[in-house]
Amino acid sequence: MEISFLTNLTCSNCGKSFSTEEVQTFCVDCNSPLISNYDLNSARERLDRDDLTKRKKGMWRWHELLPVRESQNMVTLGEGDTATLHLPRVGNLLGLSNLFVKDESVNPTGSFKARGLSAAISKAKELGIKKVIIPTAGNAGGAMAAYAARAGMQSLIYMPKDTPIANIIESRIAGAEVILVDGLISDAAKLAGEKARADGWFDLSTFKEPYRMEGKKLMGYELAEFFNWTLPDVIIYPTGGGTGLVGMWKAFSELEQLGWLENTKRPRMVSVQAEGCAPVIKAFHSGASTCDFWPGAQTMASGLRVPKSFADRLILANIRESNGTAVAVSDTAILEAQKNLAAQEGIFAAPEGAATLSALKELIAQKWIQRDECVVVFNTGTGLKYLDQVE
Ligand SMILES: *Cc1c(COP(=O)(O)O)cnc(C)c1O
Ligand SMILES: [Zn+2]
Repeated sequence: MEISFLTNLTCSNCGKSFSTEEVQTFCVDCNSPLISNYDLNSARERLDRDDLTKRKKGMWRWHELLPVRESQNMVTLGEGDTATLHLPRVGNLLGLSNLFVKDESVNPTGSFKARGLSAAISKAKELGIKKVIIPTAGNAGGAMAAYAARAGMQSLIYMPKDTPIANIIESRIAGAEVILVDGLISDAAKLAGEKARADGWFDLSTFKEPYRMEGKKLMGYELAEFFNWTLPDVIIYPTGGGTGLVGMWKAFSELEQLGWLENTKRPRMVSVQAEGCAPVIKAFHSGASTCDFWPGAQTMASGLRVPKSFADRLILANIRESNGTAVAVSDTAILEAQKNLAAQEGIFAAPEGAATLSALKELIAQKWIQRDECVVVFNTGTGLKYLDQVE
């Protein structure tokens, strides 16, 4: 039985159409990501948002809006439906009564990378792919290894040699071959790309494969559902490759076309990066439409150590369309926010997640956020994966 309304893919730059029945990567004409399209008119007629709410919990309850066509191809470890938690104590200190965290740390493999890799590995399985490769700052590799194991695929991972040890161990124990690279994720990407071309591995690099974004977009669906089919005023998101930011912005547009929103007012999207690697922040404030490669990237928030995203154009366009902004925070501020969130609310966040609270503080000081606004910060992973970096 056909369980998805997926129709085709289109290039995010030139609009060229691509078939979803074949293996796709990105548009080689313009070196740009491909975007999944669904027959949202039919979905609007045939789907009732409240029926989807009643289904068994997890990401795949939205399967009509995911790319997999046959249910036997879904590769799941129970990802999605993470808690959206009110933060009364941190909010009180900041003077915000409507502050929430979307806590992605409870996903399988300890980060929201599980969502994207569940979607991508499932579609890869459907298309008959047997071996997958990825360059990673850490968590994407761990997630890929786990889902590939579950799907019976072979996996190969390239990561910087100073990636948190937890990411190396979790990948190897799931059967992946891990190659440690003396360099950054951009160096790992170059090596993985060459290996993929030479030996026929399917490359799951961020945005060079179309479907990881589809898994991550569901964070936007879950937020809409949580807020009774309205959207928060502000979303603060730690940006590496930008999958979640671009994915959620797509989700809001789909939700509008599905007619599921009570109020179509969109959130202002805030991108957060670390001062030691802030290509999006620099491009945003200089008015550029793409990012320059950030040389010598350095931050303890390894997921943010991405010198240039393949989707930089989309990230910047989405932030601007939302009337959002971009903020860089220091590693010192990240560590302080991490301690505060754990001590005041009991949430041991990944440094990337803690960064969103530092940015929030900054935006309140700038009066960019008003005290009565509804704000959602993202904790994208668990602090337990970074024990070698935290005292
Ligand atoms: C990968 C990662 C990010 C960045 O996510 P993108 O959607 O690629 O921008 C943030 N936090 C953590 C913990 C990550 O693993
Ligand atoms: Zn194109």
